[in-house]
Amino acid sequence: MIPSSGVELLRAHLFHTPRNPFREDHALESHADGGLLIRNGRVAGCGDYRSLRDAHPDAAVTDLRGGFLLPGLIDAHSHFPQLRVLGDMGRSLLDWLEHRALPEEARMADRTYACAVARAFVHALVSHGTTTALVFGAHFAPATAALFEAAEAAGLRIASGQVLSDRLLRPDLQQTPEQAWRDATLLIQRFHCRGRLRYAVTPRFALSTSEAVMEVCQTLLNEHPGLLLQTHINEDPHEIAEVARLFPWASDYLAVYERFGLCRPNAVMAHNVHATDSQLDRLASSGTAIAHCPCSNAALGSGLFPMRRHVNAGVRCALGTDVGGGTGFGLLKEGLQAYLLQRIAPDGMLLNASHLLYLATLAGAEALGLGDEVGDFSTGKAADFVYLRPSENSPLAAVLEREEDPQGILAAIFTLAGAENVREVRIEGAPVYP
Ligand SMILES: [Zn+2]
Repeated sequence: MIPSSGVELLRAHLFHTPRNPFREDHALESHADGGLLIRNGRVAGCGDYRSLRDAHPDAAVTDLRGGFLLPGLIDAHSHFPQLRVLGDMGRSLLDWLEHRALPEEARMADRTYACAVARAFVHALVSHGTTTALVFGAHFAPATAALFEAAEAAGLRIASGQVLSDRLLRPDLQQTPEQAWRDATLLIQRFHCRGRLRYAVTPRFALSTSEAVMEVCQTLLNEHPGLLLQTHINEDPHEIAEVARLFPWASDYLAVYERFGLCRPNAVMAHNVHATDSQLDRLASSGTAIAHCPCSNAALGSGLFPMRRHVNAGVRCALGTDVGGGTGFGLLKEGLQAYLLQRIAPDGMLLNASHLLYLATLAGAEALGLGDEVGDFSTGKAADFVYLRPSENSPLAAVLEREEDPQGILAAIFTLAGAENVREVRIEGAPVYP
């Protein structure tokens, strides 16, 4: 029970990364007997339980010992209409799109169907501990509205937008530039900055988006300050070759987006597996972020992400699940996969558990322009968190019997925990799951 003072003190082992471990030592903060003080949905303190208890004797204590509090997880790239095509094997990007993903995306023309998928998608996010996500909507405005409405009903922080395309995809997934502008404008008026929702201008990728629709995207960004932008880049060698053929005037893939002012802060481009040094420098100087989706990159055989080159160039990177090219909704699994692939990538970067937690939390917040609002437990931020607890007699419980080092505990959580360990999720201090 929260007393009339409105202050609650949660007691558990807590982890967060209020600093960037790619740039600073000791970025991870861990409090084995930790306290998270919440007042009016905001973090009012985070640290040692005893000190917080002594300083706030009136706070209502919620005892969660035996489990772990992490900031709410942040998914920087996902597609809601692809929920029901998760789990395919054996295809690469363009084949997978044509035969697996796009037929399912066409079903979103049916609003009833889209509503059911949207509700299931939002439930899957939150049940995996994800509190914030940047999500591709559908090619249809009513289906995209269904996602916003489902997210609002569940209380999640979602940025999304109608997917824009005017060529190469099957005809029922294309819009004219005029339709694209009209539909997006109406959705922006309805949903942008409504509660926790924000609108992201969403050209699918340069392959299916002509100059005319890129111009629409640029116009929308100019007409409505504060919008996000999301798209794909440099995922697969065949895709890159096609983009070069379709835009003979562009020096490379990124130059297509640059020409229309799409490289900017609060722009998130997924994949960038095959990036040149020049593109990395330009991404960094424009403030564009990359959503790294290691499960998808492996599942579609897209390639090994050059993490070290991104970090050295100063490109912002966050983690994305890329449902449904990826393998599910778990950002812990995504973090583990990033670690595993870097272990075997040429010039791979040795990641530790601090890197993984940062990539799954604060890095995502920064990529989405929410770095002052969520991503860690700094005082004043929204109290968004996931509470994880090992199941009895599980391998995770066995490791935690003897592991005492914070890096070791967090590494075990990334390796062995999943949705079955998510016991509670809150946003601004209010429960959203179960
Ligand atoms: Zn994607």
